Amino acid sequence: MTIKGSCVCGGVRFELFEPPALMGACHCSRCRKAGSAAYVYVRAEALHWLAGRALLTRYKPRPPFRFTRAFCKRCGTAFGDPETGRVVAIAASCLDDDPGVRATFHEYAPDEAPWAHGCEDAMFGPK
Ligand SMILES: [Zn+2]
Ligand SMILES: [Zn+2]
Repeated sequence: MTIKGSCVCGGVRFELFEPPALMGACHCSRCRKAGSAAYVYVRAEALHWLAGRALLTRYKPRPPFRFTRAFCKRCGTAFGDPETGRVVAIAASCLDDDPGVRATFHEYAPDEAPWAHGCEDAMFGPK
């Protein structure tokens, strides 16, 4: 069973040959601005690019920040850091299939946006 992922414009597509080992949720301001907060961690060998490798662009921050961020240069979809290390961090938000894992840890919880909670009474819009 493979787990597929893609960007908003459909230019970048990939698949995972095995389920991620785990998922973590990051609440830092940088992940928030980059449009991704939950990541799945999978062995680099299990990630296979199907299309759009040339659309992948990387943002490497200045120290002390280390987390390189890959995104689609056409539509801006965040992919996390799918190309660094033996275990890669992939933004759960770009997955098309259920990865089968759920977040088991939080990072930078004190940095969470003030509006992250308190919307339990909000109405549901059209689906
Ligand atoms: Zn795209
Ligand atoms: Zn973060």
